[in-house]
Amino acid sequence: MQRLLTSEIVAKVGETVTVAGWIHARRDMGKVAFFDLRDREGLLQIVAVPGELGDSAEIANKVRSEWVVEITGVVQARGAKQINDKLKTGTVELLAKSVVVLNESKTPPFEIDKDTRPVNEEARLTYRYLDLRSERMQKNLRTRSAMFQDMRQYLGNEGFIEVETPVLTKGTPEGAREFIVPSRLHPQNFYVLPQSPQQFKQLLMVSGVERYYQFAKCFRDEDQRGDRQPEFTQLDLEMSFVEREQVMQLIETMLIDMVKKYRPDAKMQQVPFPHMSYKEAMEKHGTDRPDIRVDKNDPNEFAFLWVVDFPFFEKTEDGGWTFTHNPFSAALPEWRDKLMNKEDIANIITSQYDIVLNGFEIGGGSIRNHRPEALRSVFEIMGFTAEQIDEQFGHMLQAFEFGAPPHGGIALGIDRVLALFQGEANIREVMAFPKDGNAKDHMMGAPSPLPEKALKEANIKLA
Ligand code: ASP
Repeated sequence: MQRLLTSEIVAKVGETVTVAGWIHARRDMGKVAFFDLRDREGLLQIVAVPGELGDSAEIANKVRSEWVVEITGVVQARGAKQINDKLKTGTVELLAKSVVVLNESKTPPFEIDKDTRPVNEEARLTYRYLDLRSERMQKNLRTRSAMFQDMRQYLGNEGFIEVETPVLTKGTPEGAREFIVPSRLHPQNFYVLPQSPQQFKQLLMVSGVERYYQFAKCFRDEDQRGDRQPEFTQLDLEMSFVEREQVMQLIETMLIDMVKKYRPDAKMQQVPFPHMSYKEAMEKHGTDRPDIRVDKNDPNEFAFLWVVDFPFFEKTEDGGWTFTHNPFSAALPEWRDKLMNKEDIANIITSQYDIVLNGFEIGGGSIRNHRPEALRSVFEIMGFTAEQIDEQFGHMLQAFEFGAPPHGGIALGIDRVLALFQGEANIREVMAFPKDGNAKDHMMGAPSPLPEKALKEANIKLA
């Protein structure tokens, strides 16, 4: 018989149906046993009475939590007193006629019919596939998928196309240390994993794509402070022929839509989102990502804030200059001459905008330098020689010589957005297979040593 989902059972009172899933819990009440059967839709109460089960009576007696079963039975309406409002299927139950065991299960290392947050982190990550069976983690995964779909739809309606960019690529100077991948075919040479698709998305603007987005995996080999992950996901986008206000407006509208849909209970402190200059943020709040909630203990308060007008450059330890956010950014129009003339460097303001939610930076972007001279000027201010500029960024400068349109974009740290929406303190809770706080994957056992042969092929000699 064709398998039905537990949610489909509600409308089948009186019919004989087959369901399949995991035994979530079992309660033995003398002769009768009750199982909660779990599938991707939720739970269904199964009633196992030996007299109704024929040959399956013995099997029903044996099944335990997390065994995988297929159960055929008759759907019965529950009496008024037995109705369970908390379950989607709370108005019915299935009187089992046959039970088939599809697979047995060992006793799980922790209880997965409860919130797993109090469970030891290492155990949760080692048995992540079991952790993900828990209701809260299922909800986080499903919300993530649904939100991604809504974002895709929103951006599609706005004329964006989704383009994948390479993961094996060349380094890009955006401030983070990069993971390096040795090339077997080109000894002594390396790819790096992208810390963001920044250069590719700008090159797509030169290609005439005009509106690009991607749910991009980004890799940063940083010390694991706090809630960082070595790989994470950005909703990365870029648009041609826009000013910064248009990029900000596009993202703001999308975020408002998402709050309304996924957190209808939440109140947004201010819409349209307020803007604050970097200077004001630092002077009034002592941080460039102020938490402007009125009540910081209210889990339903969402305080979005745009922080703008950042200095383009800051002094390095050796007295030179480096960028504060993104070397590909343009200065604000009134500062463009100064950038070209390399004057008043400390005061040049970048077009960078950061979006902050409840004190967390959830994204940032800028309008870019689309003229090669302006981009060259940024690298010159940072002390690069002409050779270094050509060696590292020659491909960008060359591309910009072929009619690069004005463009700008933004990237949202989508794991953080989801964590905040789901009321989770840690981004690991909204990722399927995260690393631990020390960048280790306990389930797969990564990172791990490699056999000598593999190292040799990759031209690696261990020190
Ligand atoms: N590439 C930038 C980042 O990763 C985002 C952007 O400017 O679009 O933060």
